[in-house]
Amino acid sequence: MPGKLASGEHRLEMCRLAFNDERFEVSSIELDRGSRSYTVETLRELKKIYPDDEFYFIIGSDMLETLTGWYLWEEIISLCHICAASREDGFVPDLSCFTDEQKKRIILLDIPPYEVSSTEIRGIIAKGEKNTELISPAVADYIRRNGLYDDGLSDYRRLLTEMLDEYRLNHSECVSECAAVLAEKYGADAEKARLAGLLHDVTKNVPRAEQLGIIEKSGEPLSGVELCNPKVWHQISGAAFLKENGIISDEEILGAVRWHTTGRADMTLLEKIVYVADFISADREYRDVNVVRRLAEISLEHAILYTSRYTVEKLVSADLPIHPATVDCYNDMLLHFKIQKG
Ligand code: FE
Ligand code: FE
Repeated sequence: MPGKLASGEHRLEMCRLAFNDERFEVSSIELDRGSRSYTVETLRELKKIYPDDEFYFIIGSDMLETLTGWYLWEEIISLCHICAASREDGFVPDLSCFTDEQKKRIILLDIPPYEVSSTEIRGIIAKGEKNTELISPAVADYIRRNGLYDDGLSDYRRLLTEMLDEYRLNHSECVSECAAVLAEKYGADAEKARLAGLLHDVTKNVPRAEQLGIIEKSGEPLSGVELCNPKVWHQISGAAFLKENGIISDEEILGAVRWHTTGRADMTLLEKIVYVADFISADREYRDVNVVRRLAEISLEHAILYTSRYTVEKLVSADLPIHPATVDCYNDMLLHFKIQKG
């Protein structure tokens, strides 16, 4: 989810910072108008201020095809030359709707396309990534100082940056994104899913001894099977850590973290979503990942039946103990489908 849009004043200031060069001047006339601003009005105003100058209006070549839908578009072409910059390789805009006179005022710029969109940049910033290659450092700094494009999760991301390695951070973002998509599809709260996905592996990189300490403090003793399978500890220590430190009090989110590795019988919708998202997030690459992705398109239960069976089989063939919750989860899904088959 890209963060919210910035106000006109912030956008003007960012333009000033980005074009901090004497060859450029950033104009505020569209903002000063104070109401809905049409391109034709801006051009009329500029023409009044600079009556002897020629104007060149640079747009993306994809916008050229929608130009005839713009307010008073014919007047726009009479007031300026339209320069269309390529947005993707080999894209040739259709100019058949323009007269020969109008075509003379359209210039197709032959420049290498720069395949990045503002939506993409806002998304990167909302995730708190320090990738400033796409924008100038001054603008990046301004965005940070003013908290622009914040999607409301930056405090959690700061915590995760301290607790997780690079690989796990990326995985958490991918699970967060995937959980939100699944929530939209299956009618759960997308914001809760996004947060639960983001935090599901919060203690994954915490040393095992410390995880045991967190679990012990929470008063939930580890079973024998859990003791000999440290891979499941982080779901228990993660939920306990989030609760004990007052980071999350929402029981649904805590449940989704608590059961994301083993699953269990009677999972809530949010628990199913985070469990499945953890298997099919964009960063996942195991052999059957596309099978599970397709199953998740059909239903969460199809995906969970497949993945819990896969987990059971893997553990059996490796002579490892199976967590009872995983067995419960598998049985629960089998019963779900048996009952459906009736
Ligand atoms: Fe995990
Ligand atoms: Fe995970």
